[in-house]
Amino acid sequence: MIRVAINGYGTIGKRVADAVAAQPDMEIVGVSKTRPSAEAFVAAKREYPLYIADLGRKEAFDKAGLAVAGSVDDMLAKCDLVVDATPGGVGAKNRAIYERHNIKAIWEGGEKHEVAGFSFNSSCNYEGAIGRQFVRVVSCNTTGLCRIINAIDQNIGVSQVRATMVRRGSDPGGIKKGPVDAVVLNPVTIPSHHGPDVNTVLPDIDIVTLAMIVPTTFMHMHVLQMNLKREADREEILKIIEEHPRLGLVRGSTGITSTAEIKEYASDLLRPRSDLWENCIFEESVAVINGTELFMFQAIHQEADVVAETVDAIRAMAGDVKDGATSIAMTNKAIGLSPL
Ligand code: NAD
Repeated sequence: MIRVAINGYGTIGKRVADAVAAQPDMEIVGVSKTRPSAEAFVAAKREYPLYIADLGRKEAFDKAGLAVAGSVDDMLAKCDLVVDATPGGVGAKNRAIYERHNIKAIWEGGEKHEVAGFSFNSSCNYEGAIGRQFVRVVSCNTTGLCRIINAIDQNIGVSQVRATMVRRGSDPGGIKKGPVDAVVLNPVTIPSHHGPDVNTVLPDIDIVTLAMIVPTTFMHMHVLQMNLKREADREEILKIIEEHPRLGLVRGSTGITSTAEIKEYASDLLRPRSDLWENCIFEESVAVINGTELFMFQAIHQEADVVAETVDAIRAMAGDVKDGATSIAMTNKAIGLSPL
């Protein structure tokens, strides 16, 4: 069993913890919190040993009736690998601690590529992570872009990608961020950082991205255009999507044309937390113009898509499962991911 610790039990950390706990070859040795928030109570209900970054705050946990198993240092001493899901920028500062403990570590997309020196996506470069000590799982938007771009590139060939990211303003539980009533160009300059981030996984793709933030919490929406290296028809593209283990099709027959309806659908399907781990590509949007210009809309559930990737990264780094397809199948089965 791979012994996994989660440093930072928030939006991503709590989901990764549940996904890891569901795997046959992994176990959770502990999760960490900075204060006794609602998520700390969830961790206690799930029976994940709770560790705290600053033992000076133990009294606050005691008062809340939450048992503290020890410090983050104590937790790190018990694990083979830590998933750092602290807020962006915090994780990089933890690298020295992980080195001192001589453990493997995964960072999430809020950290720069340099924190680990290897940026990961299961469908694109699983094999490159085998046996590594440090890996960064790219952000939710980059994960969604890498999956579809690589699938089309491997099967048909992609000469150029142009994409616009319409990003959610906050996660549903977030009460401190906005915008409330605005479309914010983020950044106002073109290109955005997403294209270079895709290149950390797929270095040979010619990609330019633009991004804006809108007042919604459910999901991001991508407007994607790819120039193909050879002529292809819509049916060929749909088949590639249907055969990919992490690409989902929002069927035209469902009548769904919005992120709100996809989330409702996931909720009705009794997905945990109504999570959508797969890209949600609108079937009716897939269009090939002039034989080589491919267009589509895809919605990305920011809280979920990186969770499945993180589980695969753990397996690759542990080194026992040598191919990505096997790990993806294991992860999907354990968490109940069968693409839309
Ligand atoms: P979050 O704020 O929801 O959760 C972070 C957790 O870390 C909180 O529980 C916080 O209490 C805890 N924490 C803060 N400082 C800590 C410390 N020093 N030691 C231990 N715990 C600490 O953040 P999140 O959205 O889960 O983001 C985590 C990472 O995942 C970031 O790199 C982020 O960019 C990335 N990510 C986030 C999303 C998203 O949409 N939320 C999507 C993909 C990737």
